[in-house]
Amino acid sequence: MSKFWSPFVKDLVPYVPGEQPKLARLVKLNTNENPYGPSPKAIAAMQAELNDSLRLYPDPNGDRLKQAGADYYGVQSSQVFVGNGSDEVLAHAFHGLFQHGKPLLFPDVTYSFYPVYCGLYGIAFETIELDQQFQIRVEDYARPNGGIIFPNPNAPTGCLLPLEAIERLLQASPDSVVLVDEAYIDFGGQSAIALVDRYPNLLVTQTLSKSRSLAGLRVGLAVGHPELIEALERIKNSFNSYPLDRLAIAGAAAAFEDRAYFDKTCAAVIDSRDAVVAGLQRLGFEVLPSAANFVFVRHPQHEAAELAARLREQGVIVRHFKQARIAQFLRITIGAPEQNRALLDALNAL
Ligand SMILES: *Cc1c(COP(=O)(O)O)cnc(C)c1O
Repeated sequence: MSKFWSPFVKDLVPYVPGEQPKLARLVKLNTNENPYGPSPKAIAAMQAELNDSLRLYPDPNGDRLKQAGADYYGVQSSQVFVGNGSDEVLAHAFHGLFQHGKPLLFPDVTYSFYPVYCGLYGIAFETIELDQQFQIRVEDYARPNGGIIFPNPNAPTGCLLPLEAIERLLQASPDSVVLVDEAYIDFGGQSAIALVDRYPNLLVTQTLSKSRSLAGLRVGLAVGHPELIEALERIKNSFNSYPLDRLAIAGAAAAFEDRAYFDKTCAAVIDSRDAVVAGLQRLGFEVLPSAANFVFVRHPQHEAAELAARLREQGVIVRHFKQARIAQFLRITIGAPEQNRALLDALNAL
């Protein structure tokens, strides 16, 4: 606290990201990174940009990336927004689409950045309880609101909402923006981008951090009606004209174009997830059904916080959240086969 701060700064409750340990050698299963590394074509595209052209500003619109995203998702580039990670895209959406006086709705157990953006932009919100099985019940969202947001699959539960349920939600709140945060959709769900031409109130965000293994590059997208995209462009161009650098635009576009590598690595993560689920169940864990690159688990006989601490002593880091309703759960990222084996071996030893 300092007299130099603008007054609202002291009331901010910032997001706390998962640990990025300085020690190598740890089995890092705490922040849902992809074990397989980016497409070699994406790396080559970025290397080709490492030259004198870096003295020039990048394309402020990232048109090459917008087109690659539009081609991949089968939409027009006017329906695509690109930003510095989907977190930045989400921030612009909160700022530009959710300030309507009525509360924004999101699940009680969800991505913990949402209330942080509400705090930053002064947006009122209401949380809606997941049901006993930790599923979103769309009927509960049919109430006055200034917008609705949830990840699909949800985080940190991994649970997937089918498209027909999302459609019912869109129809029940035709005057609000429904934002579907699809950070994990490529690991087993169907994208709601299929619905954007029919629902002008639908915005879908995507990230290259998880399924395209580019968390370090910081690239995210939004897809929706051109008028929603225009709101995001207006915010972006009032904030930072160049959110994506030359390397990011080139690397992310190449990653979208390399479908073979993407398909292969997503399939490998999904196979590993099946093996991890089976291994955890053998050890007595209860595992929520996951369509993501992580699993959300609890053990009837062991404290989650204690398990996380003991795993860390053995060099395996997983994520534990203190929120009361999920305090007995651990979120465990699906790693490479040898990392998953190290996890199961460590748990077995405990
Ligand atoms: C990882 C994640 C994001 C953020 O992704 P970035 O593109 O890396 O900023 C957004 N939403 C959810 C639910 C996530 O898990």
